[in-house]
Amino acid sequence: MSEELHCIGCGSIIQTDRPGELGYTPQSALEKGLESGEVYCQRCFRLRHYNEIQDVSLTDDDFLRLLNELGQKDALIVNVVDIFDFNGSLIPGLHRFVGDNPVLLVGNKVDILPKSLKKPKMIQWMTERAHEAGLRPVEVLLTSAKKAHEMEDLLAKIEEYREGRDVYVVGVTNVGKSTLINQIIKNTAGVQDVITTSQFPGTTLDKIEIPLDDGQALIDTPGIIHRHQMAHYLGKKDLRIIAPTKEIKPKVYQLNDGQTLFLGGLARFDFVSGERGSFIAYVSNDVNIHRTKLEKADEFYAKHVGGLLQPPRPDEVEEFPELVRFEFSVKEKTDIVFAGLGWITVSQPAVVAGWAPKGVDVIKRKALI
Ligand code: GDP
Repeated sequence: MSEELHCIGCGSIIQTDRPGELGYTPQSALEKGLESGEVYCQRCFRLRHYNEIQDVSLTDDDFLRLLNELGQKDALIVNVVDIFDFNGSLIPGLHRFVGDNPVLLVGNKVDILPKSLKKPKMIQWMTERAHEAGLRPVEVLLTSAKKAHEMEDLLAKIEEYREGRDVYVVGVTNVGKSTLINQIIKNTAGVQDVITTSQFPGTTLDKIEIPLDDGQALIDTPGIIHRHQMAHYLGKKDLRIIAPTKEIKPKVYQLNDGQTLFLGGLARFDFVSGERGSFIAYVSNDVNIHRTKLEKADEFYAKHVGGLLQPPRPDEVEEFPELVRFEFSVKEKTDIVFAGLGWITVSQPAVVAGWAPKGVDVIKRKALI
């Protein structure tokens, strides 16, 4: 395109080849738009017609610019994270960007954690982890945007902490921010007519503004893709397998040292040394786990990846990154986390190794459960 076209809803530059990114509109819709003289990006189009917002993701630079702007506002920041992928959904350095603005930390997707997990414990755990990351939220809440749980509580807290100011909702992609905002839209009065899209001066970032009754607004900001997540390396079908949609059923394994667990063909856990003990896997119920001997594990993987060990599916094996090993010495109850896939809880002192596709993080953290 020789001349840049801008969305008349949000001002972002219209493009037709990168779905899910700012300004995307399908070619056919663009042609129709040009005919009628009204070109909207797909996100604004959906908002206008279906009252629904859609995720878009930003480049790192745009995201940094957006974060920098937050510090200059006088606003309440609502940071949505995915509690199933807590480490992968924290925004590095958010505390530095928000300045003096209060942050309300919202742990979404509470419906997929085992019901036995007590909420106060979860909130305590999230608060500690946030503090470790330098973030001092005014309060931590748990929600399920999908099931519309705790929405009233969330809205009440937002009202309490915003003290008449604007509200900015931030989060990395896939935490359920769009789902949450759509619930908020449904829950706020007068739905149809109050929703507007608006462009902020001095930026091309497309943000969606939901007016609040005192003239302020709740502003949805686009997310950023976290590259160290498993989701980045998988197709849509596989994503459906690894992203839990229902309450996770923990799987308990009694292991001796020298044993290995494969999480499909996506990740591997080795019990290198330590006393026999129990290891608990928290991954989507659809991910199959296989136990083998550590000494045979390399061979086993080479032979069965894409077959017995799926995902990846057979046609994806060639492109799938090799697994990379991270070793951990565990002293107390610890989770070995495979970014975006889940975690294995180690309950007693041990040396273990976690393997994930090259580029995906494996980390150790204080046990959640
Ligand atoms: P965004 O990228 O942060 O805007 O995330 P989306 O709203 O598009 O949600 C990402 C995925 O998480 C979708 O598959 C949603 O259905 C799912 N999701 C969102 N909220 C919840 C929730 O509360 N519980 C569960 N189990 N899934 C959710």
